[in-house]
Amino acid sequence: MLKIAAVGLVVALGSMVAPRASAADKVNVVATTEDLASLAREVGGDRIDVESLARGYQDPHFVEPKPSFILKLNKADLLIAVGRELEIGWLPPLITQSRNPKVQPGGAGYLDASLTVKILELPTGQITRAMGDVHPQGNPHYWLDPGNGRRVALAIQQKLSQMRPADASYFAGRYADFDKRLSAAEKRWDGQMAPFKGLKLVTYHRSWPNFADRFGLDVVGYVEPRPGIPPSPSHTLELMQEMKRQGIKVILVEPYFDLKTPNAIARDTGATVLVMAPSVGGEKEITDYIKLFDYDINMLVAALKQSGAK
Ligand SMILES: [Zn+2]
Repeated sequence: MLKIAAVGLVVALGSMVAPRASAADKVNVVATTEDLASLAREVGGDRIDVESLARGYQDPHFVEPKPSFILKLNKADLLIAVGRELEIGWLPPLITQSRNPKVQPGGAGYLDASLTVKILELPTGQITRAMGDVHPQGNPHYWLDPGNGRRVALAIQQKLSQMRPADASYFAGRYADFDKRLSAAEKRWDGQMAPFKGLKLVTYHRSWPNFADRFGLDVVGYVEPRPGIPPSPSHTLELMQEMKRQGIKVILVEPYFDLKTPNAIARDTGATVLVMAPSVGGEKEITDYIKLFDYDINMLVAALKQSGAK
């Protein structure tokens, strides 16, 4: 009886282990943001499992760390981070506590997505965090240029191919398909944005320099006096004067900032406040990287047409 039970247990264990073997073949990917998770999904397809830590409607500089993040990192084969110190306020202790040697910075399963992209606002001279500036290593919101999204996807393809050489041609095929779809989408976006080349606007945080650079917009001021520093009365006054002088009619605000100051500025200057999503998941319908630009550009173009801005 005991022997039969033992055999039964072995059989049961065997059948439990079998399906796990194929799941274990998948690369377990953790991305810090939903943008990186989306790009990983494009390239990794069904050969990876991917989760993001931050949600797209959260300020990626200030994410509340949860114990579940440590568990996810503990089980990860690959961690993809935005880098440039975007996550410095919350990620490093989680990585340490995960006790997973693979995903430690410099480990075989750590990918800093910023290493192969175009970075704007690189500091010249000594790098400091003067006055609490949260962009000490150049602007970390680089994914808002689709060209940089393509570069990140390529870096992910190369990383996954190193980790799973047997699936390298699969990853290469997925990357090529994404590249093609992204290029087609870029033609569409360029067409939509063409009438607004050189348009001057103001944004709350410095989230949009790559977006502005790519689509020919001119960001002339920020609601924040410095990245990560809340609005001050003196800065707001100066900004309003500058906006009136230059006839600025649009203020872009990320969904996680208080609208009080932007609304006050809008009332004083006659500008329109637009809450624009900087990340996948920032709105329900933004379910992937290409849809992020579709959503933002459609919204921006509709608002600009309505306001008669040029
Ligand atoms: Zn920032």
